[in-house]
Amino acid sequence: MSEVTRRFLEYVGYDTQSREGQEKIPSTGRQLVLAKKLAEELEGMGAENVRITGQGYVYASIPANTDRKAPVLGFVAHMDTVPSFSGTDIKPRLIGEYDGEDICLNEGLNIWMKTEDFPELKNSKGQTLIVTDGTTLLGADDKAGIAEIITMAQWFLTHPEVEHGKICIGFTPDEEIGRGADGFDVEAFGADVAYTVDGGVLGELMYENFNGASGKVTIHGRNIHPGNGKGQMKNALLMGMEFQALLPAFENPMYTEGYEGFFHLDAMSGCVEEAKMDYIIRDHDRDKFEQKKRIFARAAEFMNQKYGEGTVDACVKDTYYNMKEKIEPHMYLIQKARASMEKLGIEPLIIPIRGGTDGARLSYMGLPCPNICTGGHNFHGKYEYITVEAMEKVTELLIEITKSFVS
Ligand SMILES: [Zn+2]
Repeated sequence: MSEVTRRFLEYVGYDTQSREGQEKIPSTGRQLVLAKKLAEELEGMGAENVRITGQGYVYASIPANTDRKAPVLGFVAHMDTVPSFSGTDIKPRLIGEYDGEDICLNEGLNIWMKTEDFPELKNSKGQTLIVTDGTTLLGADDKAGIAEIITMAQWFLTHPEVEHGKICIGFTPDEEIGRGADGFDVEAFGADVAYTVDGGVLGELMYENFNGASGKVTIHGRNIHPGNGKGQMKNALLMGMEFQALLPAFENPMYTEGYEGFFHLDAMSGCVEEAKMDYIIRDHDRDKFEQKKRIFARAAEFMNQKYGEGTVDACVKDTYYNMKEKIEPHMYLIQKARASMEKLGIEPLIIPIRGGTDGARLSYMGLPCPNICTGGHNFHGKYEYITVEAMEKVTELLIEITKSFVS
């Protein structure tokens, strides 16, 4: 069994599910158990300056072994798994020489992964798949990233003849609840530039994500006995529907893809007296993003003109920005990753992320940080899988990228 596979199978045995709504980092103590294990492993293989912060971040470095010029290069992955699906007692199963047919994940519970639902399974025909038993997720997101980074580190530590610049390694808690960057100390980490290894299918390379804002709308109605409602009642629910109708109908997740942004009504509750609506606003393009926020504010203004000042409170707050503008001055990060992929026969898939990443936040914290693939599929659920071949390839990719930074 390859080193990266052995490590991956070991790490998924650690339950590191994070939890929403916690103030402290890490949100769950169990993430610290894996943090400790990873720190020991890095220490044991000879990495330097290995430490775990009070919040459970693991940092380590491998010193440069060349006088030639190279930026300090970082690799970042996250230790937690998503709160919304069980990560307890994961039983990974290897399927060697996969035949490209439907896979029974769990006989007792009759859980199948069908090629009809996941046609890309066929692309893994002949490879060794790692699947779940249908009751948990697999945790390739992002323990595959961790296994690949550590195996890359070990490779450099056992190949001192290969020149490389300083390599920094960072493992974060709580990425899945959007807090992986909160306690990340860019300066202490020490890298000039970095990659998160947290993408999906082999070849993925991402440096554009949405600009994101949240919109909280509160509508103040006036309840009165419906028999006496004429000229008196203001129905917050109906006004909420009217507010939504003022937004562009097709700029909605149901009708958008690629670089198209949207307004998404995520939750709505209320009664005649008061209604609340939670929105998220997204667009890759900063100007269009700002325009969307203006449209949102104007809808509220219109409602207030029509129904009286103070009827609609619309509060919009930016949550994250597209990392593109922070990566663009460092496009060699993309060029080097792409060239390394091509050298290894991996087809680069450069796609915009329709969401945010910790790398985007790190990019705004001063660490330009695009995202590269782990090789995994179907993250966040029981159909998650990865192939041994993809993990081995990504490990080679990380080695190749690191080598390419020496000039
Ligand atoms: Zn992830």
